[in-house]
Amino acid sequence: MSIDFTLTPELEEIRLRVRAFINDVVKPGEARIGDPDEIERDEYIRILFGMRDQAREAGLWLPHMPKEWGGMGLGHVELAMVQAEAAKAYYGPFILNCQAPDEGNMHTLLHWATDEQKEKYLRPLCEGMAMSCFAMTEPEVAGSDPTLIRTTAVQDGEEWVINGHKWFISNARRASFAILVARTEDNPDLPQAANSAFLVDIPSEGWNRVREVETMHGSTGHSEIVIEDLRVPAANMLGGRGQGHLLGQYRLGPARLAHCMRWISQAETALDMMVDRSLHRYAHGSVLAEKQGIQWMIADSTMELYQSKLMVLHAAYRIDHGLDFKSEVSMAKHFVANMLNRVIDRSIQVHGALGYSTDTPLAHMYQHARWARFADGADEVHQMRIAQRTIAAYRDTGTTQRATGDLPI
Ligand SMILES: Cc1cc2nc3c(=O)[nH]c(=O)nc-3n(C[C@H](O)[C@H](O)[C@H](O)COP(=O)(O)OP(=O)(O)OC[C@H]3O[C@@H](n4cnc5c(N)ncnc54)[C@H](O)[C@@H]3O)c2cc1C
Repeated sequence: MSIDFTLTPELEEIRLRVRAFINDVVKPGEARIGDPDEIERDEYIRILFGMRDQAREAGLWLPHMPKEWGGMGLGHVELAMVQAEAAKAYYGPFILNCQAPDEGNMHTLLHWATDEQKEKYLRPLCEGMAMSCFAMTEPEVAGSDPTLIRTTAVQDGEEWVINGHKWFISNARRASFAILVARTEDNPDLPQAANSAFLVDIPSEGWNRVREVETMHGSTGHSEIVIEDLRVPAANMLGGRGQGHLLGQYRLGPARLAHCMRWISQAETALDMMVDRSLHRYAHGSVLAEKQGIQWMIADSTMELYQSKLMVLHAAYRIDHGLDFKSEVSMAKHFVANMLNRVIDRSIQVHGALGYSTDTPLAHMYQHARWARFADGADEVHQMRIAQRTIAAYRDTGTTQRATGDLPI
């Protein structure tokens, strides 16, 4: 019997160390920063990078990367614990250098880059000396279907010439390079083999950041990029010709799960706040915690959070064991994203007007959470793929069991 949810003493020690670091270093640092728009830039940088130095000294740097790259060498199950602890503070993942999109880009470079590309692009990311972005989505075509990508790369001797339009490119304004996906093949055998990925230095002539897209939670670093005659050396192709789609899929598996780990942490904060408020708010003869209507919200949130944790742990287990994880990650991503929105919404409900105000973090969390239901795969696209796999499992084996986590029950 090998199903065992107890942590090894070493891992429990790491988890508690991350928790203590977040409480003792990151949260006080965040309090000193306050509103990042108000604080002086130099002071902001000094506090942030001071905390990063402390994370490095505490051995809590790059939890997702192997030791030879300066990381903690954790597997995905172990990472789930660390990410969830780190995300208890807004800057937590950044301080540990495991924030999106760099974290997903590091995985991608580790797997796909040549040795030279790793030295030039992965090394500075791991050392915390650079930031990166991933440029795939375009305003003119549905991001849900990357076979529609219109940005083109045309070979010209030892260079590729790229023209196109991207938007919602997170982190582009701070990045020193992009992983860019563009169409290189006119008539591929498979529509999924039309695109290739490139490493693009930023700034580069022809890479024009034209605006920051203002979102419902403010303008938080998602850029629109117009690409005009951008020249990229042939050696900067990442992966092979026509492998852009494959690379994107490879990147998104662990990256989606890492989002789930951080969302679980956010939902837990919202549930903690819901219970705390319900224990202190009094109406109609008792505190809210004694009302059945409120208990249902607490119970539903508790059950959904429990389901989310199990789904994430199981999907992480499958990645760690080299098993096919596409369906499990899809199901986790869909479920956890929706759970997050529901739990924050209920917490706001229990807080009443206070929840709607910006006096608590809930309003900000709610605005932030909405993107989770369509970015990195919209709900409906995940549902489409999950259903396809369930139908295929039934056709192949006469039962849907394989599609429900392929568990021994
Ligand atoms: C905060 C944020 C950060 C982002 N960061 C990045 C980034 O760094 N890099 C990057 O490249 N992109 C990024 N994106 C873009 C993101 O990946 C896309 O929004 C996503 O892929 C969906 O593409 P789309 O917005 O074009 O929506 P569309 O593809 O137009 O889909 C719109 C809606 O159509 C429906 N739909 C689509 N297909 C189907 C279907 N088959 N069946 C039923 N319904 C369907 C879904 O409801 C979907 O939400 C980011 C987006 C946000 C909001």
